[in-house]
Amino acid sequence: MAIGSYSTPRPRKGLKRPERLDSLVRDARQNRDTRMAGYREQSLRIHPLVCARCGRVFERDNLVELTVHHKDHNHDHNPPDGSNWENLCIYCHDNEHARQVEYQARGGDDGAADPEPAAATHSPFANLKELLAGNKL
Ligand SMILES: [Zn+2]
Ligand SMILES: [Zn+2]
Repeated sequence: MAIGSYSTPRPRKGLKRPERLDSLVRDARQNRDTRMAGYREQSLRIHPLVCARCGRVFERDNLVELTVHHKDHNHDHNPPDGSNWENLCIYCHDNEHARQVEYQARGGDDGAADPEPAAATHSPFANLKELLAGNKL
């Protein structure tokens, strides 16, 4: 029965292509896209079509230059009442984010909060004696 042992390789079941994964990824992308479009649309509907910084007024034909900013810079924080959104023209929006980058570079979060958050953990006078001693000697 040696001849009978040669069997043509059958396609093995269970080795399907990960189509399901593909479609999951596609769905996720789609969801994100609709969510992104969703909050912009909502914000433009809730808030006036005016840049909240410079007051530039927008119409249908230049609406593409009016962007929606997240006040807390968290794009996943989208309360339906629009309290985290701000309509900003692309210039003011750029500006807003540049300012945020500066804040972070300086190590502070928002300036508006606590002007001296480090005061509790570290005394500005801790090495004052040393400094004075160093100056005298
Ligand atoms: Zn503006
Ligand atoms: Zn923004």
